[in-house]
Order: sequence, then structure tokens, then C-alpha cells
Amino acid sequence: MQDNDRCLRRLPSQIAGELRPKRPVEAVFLDRDGTLNVERADYVKSIEELVLLPGVLDALARLATFDLPLILITNQSAIGRGIVSHRRVERIHHHLRSLVHAAQGRIDAIYLCPHPPDAGCDCRKPKPGLLQAAANDWQLDLARCAFIGDSMADLGAARTAGCQPILVRTGRQAQQLDELAHRDPTVVLVNDLSAAVDWLEQWMKANSGEIALGAQAHSSSHTAR
Ligand SMILES: [Zn+2]
Repeated sequence: MQDNDRCLRRLPSQIAGELRPKRPVEAVFLDRDGTLNVERADYVKSIEELVLLPGVLDALARLATFDLPLILITNQSAIGRGIVSHRRVERIHHHLRSLVHAAQGRIDAIYLCPHPPDAGCDCRKPKPGLLQAAANDWQLDLARCAFIGDSMADLGAARTAGCQPILVRTGRQAQQLDELAHRDPTVVLVNDLSAAVDWLEQWMKANSGEIALGAQAHSSSHTAR
């Protein structure tokens, strides 16, 4: 695999190397298409085609108050298929982060797989490569992380990496996930990102008496981009 196009990484310098205390939940990973924005069969190719799902900005603002790294983990095979350039996807992500930031939310880092499905890379979900790369960069214990996504690939990546998956019904695989959740009661499936944040909040409370609500006490130290 060529190292230079393996994945795009953004690591805020404020976080890198910073010693963070062990917490019951260390980070939240988020899928993009179908979780934050409307998934398009023909891919999101422009800022105009990035349409956020209802309630997403409010949910991200609430998530930001948990004072945890929020890391986007996304397959963008449209790059490898030659449909959209790296640079264009970066512009779309810059726009996404601007929208989120303006609504008091944040996305601290973005890890993406640019490869087509037949490339056999280690990073395309359901492979756990992006999650493992993020865990390495951010010094995270994946068993203490949650991954909010909308697809079987997200579920697969989360389970292989050892994260807690939280699935939402806002993507194209909602029916498939409903059937899976019916068969497997351990699958956490909720309506949308807002409900996923509710579930996460309860999970954090259940995992310890302490939930790190740092945003009120001090302005978040990792809003950098
Ligand atoms: Zn890849």
C-alpha cells in the first residue's frame, strides 16, 4: 500500500501528546454519510450536495459538551474511483466543520479511506484500520470508545476494533439494521444522531459516576482544526 495516500489525517497540535486522564469513555467516532448528512448513491461531490440530516447540528453541539475527542471516520471511495478529488473532499470537510463550529459543535479530526472497494486496503470500513490509526494518534483505548454509524460496515469496524457501536436509522441500511437488531439484542439501534447522543450519555453515566462535562467549566481545549 502506498503510504502517501493511505488516509488523510488531521491532528490538532493541542491534543497530540497531551496527557489525558483515563476516562470511562475516551472518544466518540462518527461516520459521515447517512449519519451526519444525507447519503447519496452518486456520492457527495460538492458543498451543495452536503445536506445535513435534521437535528444533527444540535446533536453535535450537545456531544461537544462531553469534552471528548470527536473523530470522523469515513469511507470516501469516490476519490479512488476518480469521481471527486482529494482536494474537493477536503473543501467539503472544511465546509462541514465550519457549519458544525458555527453551531457550537466540533469535529476534532477526520480520518478517511480514499480507496475503492477492490483495492484491498486496511482502512476501508468494515476494516478497523482508520479506527486503529486514530487510536494510535490520539492514544485511545478503543474499548473505551463509541462509534456512531449507520451501516453494517460501521458495525463491523466498531466490533473488530472493540468499540461500542451505536447505530442510527438515518442511512440507507435502516431496514437491514432493524432486522439485525431484532435477531441480535446486543445491537444498539436508535433513530438518529440525537438519540445516539442520548444513549451515549446514559452509557457514560452507567459506566461511571463521573461524566466529563468540561464545556461549562472551561472553554474546550480541543476545538482546533
Ligand atoms: Zn482504504
